[in-house]
Amino acid sequence: MLHRFDTLVIGSGLAGLSAAIEASRHGSVAVIAKLYPTRCHSSAAQGGIAAALGNEDPDSPEWHVYDTIKGSDYLADQDAVRTMCEAAVKTVIGLEHMGVPFSRTPGGKIAQRRFGGHTKEFGAAPVRRACYCADRTGLAIVTTLYEQSQRRGIKFFPEFHVLDIMMEGDRCLGAAAMEIRTGEICAFSACATILATGGYGRVFRTTSNAIQSTGDLPGILLEKGLPLEDMEFFQFHPTGLYGLGILVTEGARGEGGVLVNGKGERFMERYAPHIKDLAPRDMVSRAITTEIREGRGVGERDFVYLDLRAIPEKTLSERLPEIMNFCRIYMGVDPSVAPIPVVPTAHYAMGGIPTDQGGRVMKNEAGETTLGLFAAGECACVSVHGANRLGCNSLLDTVVFGRRAGEAAGKMKDIFMVEAAAESEEVLGPAKNTVSEILRRRGDEKTGAVRKDLQELMMGRCSVFRNEAGLKAALEGIKELKERAKHIAITDRGKRFNTEVLEAIELGRLIDLAEVIVSSAVQRKESRGAHSREDYPERDDKNWLKHTFAFKKAGAFKTEGNIEFSYRPVSIAGFPLRKREY
Ligand SMILES: Cc1cc2nc3c(=O)[nH]c(=O)nc-3n(C[C@H](O)[C@H](O)[C@H](O)COP(=O)(O)OP(=O)(O)OC[C@H]3O[C@@H](n4cnc5c(N)ncnc54)[C@H](O)[C@@H]3O)c2cc1C
Repeated sequence: MLHRFDTLVIGSGLAGLSAAIEASRHGSVAVIAKLYPTRCHSSAAQGGIAAALGNEDPDSPEWHVYDTIKGSDYLADQDAVRTMCEAAVKTVIGLEHMGVPFSRTPGGKIAQRRFGGHTKEFGAAPVRRACYCADRTGLAIVTTLYEQSQRRGIKFFPEFHVLDIMMEGDRCLGAAAMEIRTGEICAFSACATILATGGYGRVFRTTSNAIQSTGDLPGILLEKGLPLEDMEFFQFHPTGLYGLGILVTEGARGEGGVLVNGKGERFMERYAPHIKDLAPRDMVSRAITTEIREGRGVGERDFVYLDLRAIPEKTLSERLPEIMNFCRIYMGVDPSVAPIPVVPTAHYAMGGIPTDQGGRVMKNEAGETTLGLFAAGECACVSVHGANRLGCNSLLDTVVFGRRAGEAAGKMKDIFMVEAAAESEEVLGPAKNTVSEILRRRGDEKTGAVRKDLQELMMGRCSVFRNEAGLKAALEGIKELKERAKHIAITDRGKRFNTEVLEAIELGRLIDLAEVIVSSAVQRKESRGAHSREDYPERDDKNWLKHTFAFKKAGAFKTEGNIEFSYRPVSIAGFPLRKREY
């Protein structure tokens, strides 16, 4: 089957939907998603979207810029941060006008709450900057944008799994995807293709991410010789439900929740005396891990408590209803009467596909771009989050840069025409080979078992704290897992809904990404943001104030295993580097 559109969007999260709506002003648009569109991970976003509206406290976009750069441990590109924060107010008002049901102040304005690292007057005190719809902010925005997409005649292809990007030299011609229902592999040709496939937290055992967050497209680009940027920076959110990883939004601390160790101490007072529990996530996750390691976890166990009992019940039920339900259903804990057992959970990929501010995918550290190929949202790296993302800045990033990518991509049809790619073996060959290669495998390994061992390995060796010996051991382990993956036996030989084949393909991408994450972590010999090296505990601006570009090809600057590295300078535009204190 052959489909042809002016713009093809892969992914129906907030980045994909924002891009699609913008591109639809210029021509025809298709959105492909491997699940039903509104089941994207964006729908799970709880706490809010950041914008300096100043509805509850005095606020300014300039303070938002400052907080984002400081939160990023100075690795974010400052010009891109400015673009995002200055667009934030208009973006949130625009969403409101589209119909997003934001929670309200008693006076009827969009309500705002505190979130980690968001401050007023350049760090003086926490500020209420997060706009929210109770604790279902993502679902509310996704549903609204999905409705708007329907209204604009955007064509959706739900349950189509993209297996390949079609390239002709340096130019992208579209994608090849399997229709999961039939097993048929189809070609989608387009003048511009936007990748908006979200995160890849499933590389870790304890994660807040959806089952579908497997990084398929970054994996495909890597194979095509394109780089991935800053992959060593993976955010651990401080408060995942113990044993499950399900997220408890930072909004819970924003509303007054506090972290407590096994001795009943509010330990964040020691790590961030100024803003305590509302310090950025990397600092809080390190603090929790340190408390547990030094024997101050709760009881004999490896967790701490998040205590919400000081928050009035009305606030809990109106502003955190989902969290209350999660705790009751999954933990048997009622947060209004008992504290919640929490641990850091793998949450957000700061790194990803390098792009410029128009979403154009960079093919090298010099910033040259790939014609017709765009990326936005969590799979991309603009980079506005640097080494550590502030809460509520991802939803903002997806909408702001999703739109910019949609705008630039939509205009591609005026620049060049893409002939409908023939449904030839040449175009669909690589996608078909991916499937037939998996089906040919023989052996006694199971996808689930190999994936579990990968996730354990990454959790043990490459999570909140890292060191050279652990990372090198992880690379050895990954090598073995690659071998084991070659012996996965597929029992379902049918075509319809063959999720067994798709899971094996996803596992292959996860292993490749794990290798890039670990290799990138080995080579960066400093501690910055979420990348905390026990053997190099200090930030080293002299040598490491630069973005890592990881390639799977020969000819780059330096080699660690199968991955090669080059570097791109950080854009500094007005905010000098300082020690990060909170
Ligand atoms: C539990 C949770 C709570 C969060 N809360 C907040 C918050 O309050 N505020 C905030 O700013 N951020 C929050 N985040 C982060 C934020 O939600 C995500 O970073 C953001 O929503 C990602 O959006 P996206 O559009 O890039 O991708 P996603 O929403 O992840 O969408 C990815 C899309 O790509 C599709 N896809 C992937 N691979 C393929 C393939 N091979 N073929 C076809 N389709 C494919 C998927 O089906 C999906 O439609 C939260 C994250 C989590 C996990």
